[in-house]
Formats: sequence, C-alpha cells, structure tokens
Amino acid sequence: MKCFNYDIVCQEIPDEVTLALNISGCPNKCPGCHSPWLAGDEGVALNENFINLLINKYISGLTCVCFMGGDQNPAGINRLASYIKATFPQLKTAWYSGLIELSDAIDVLNFDYIKVGPYIEEKGGLRSPNTNQKFYKVLRGGKLEQVRFAPKNSF
Ligand code: SF4
Repeated sequence: MKCFNYDIVCQEIPDEVTLALNISGCPNKCPGCHSPWLAGDEGVALNENFINLLINKYISGLTCVCFMGGDQNPAGINRLASYIKATFPQLKTAWYSGLIELSDAIDVLNFDYIKVGPYIEEKGGLRSPNTNQKFYKVLRGGKLEQVRFAPKNSF
C-alpha cells in the first residue's frame, strides 16, 4: 500500500485539523472517479515509519489523521490506525472507504470517524443531498452514529 501524497485539510472531518493520506492502488474503478491518478501503484510505502515521520512533522497543528482510500487492504488500514491510536493517543483517526459496507477486517474502535460508499457521480459526495455515501462518528463502545454534512452552498 502506498501514499500518493498528503494534505492538511479542515473540511473532510468536521471540527478537526486532519492529515489526509491519499492512498494509491484504488481498486474501485468508480465511473467518473474524481481522483483517477489514485488507480496506479505510485507513491511512498505507507507504513508505521512513514506515518511516524509525517505526524511528528506536523504534530503541533494536527488533531486527526485520515486514510483516504486503501480499500485494497482494509486489514493494513486497521493495523495502521491501531498504531496511531497507541502511539499518538491525542489524535483522532478516520477512514474514507469507497466500499459499500464496512470491511470485516476493520475494528471500529481503532477509528473515530468512518466514511463508506463508492463515488457515484450523479449522486454526488457527502455534501450532496442525494449522496449514497455515509459518514459515521464512532461512539464509545463502537456504535456508529451517522453524521450528515451541510450542503456545499450553505458555506
Ligand atoms: S474510490 Fe475514489 S479514487 Fe477510487 S475509483 Fe472511486 S472515486 Fe476514484
């Protein structure tokens, strides 16, 4: 699994300053994909060492780390989220998955937020009222509470 690039973002996870890791090798092939460059196997190996380096570089401003993709290896995403929880307990963790259902390889207790659902162009993303995608906050004990995003034009 490889990290194509990364950003510090403020809107993907509500109320968090998030290190978003854009993961290549996406297997989903959504028609109208908004990030076709993520289909290839390009980037830096996404492992504990790389995550450690990145988080330490930006630690003073971060509140969350989000895996954007990684559907080819949910067990790997789960392992890395568990590593972040153990090593940087002050940070929240999140996963943007394009899978329809949450993978069995995921322990939700390793995450604070999880988004599931493929990108369907005519339904739009999380800020579209017609979206098929679901964004959940993981509550204490592992219960998932759906969070609905404000429409884009309300900002
Ligand atoms: S999950 Fe995202 S990156 Fe992957 S094919 Fe779908 S829209 Fe593109």
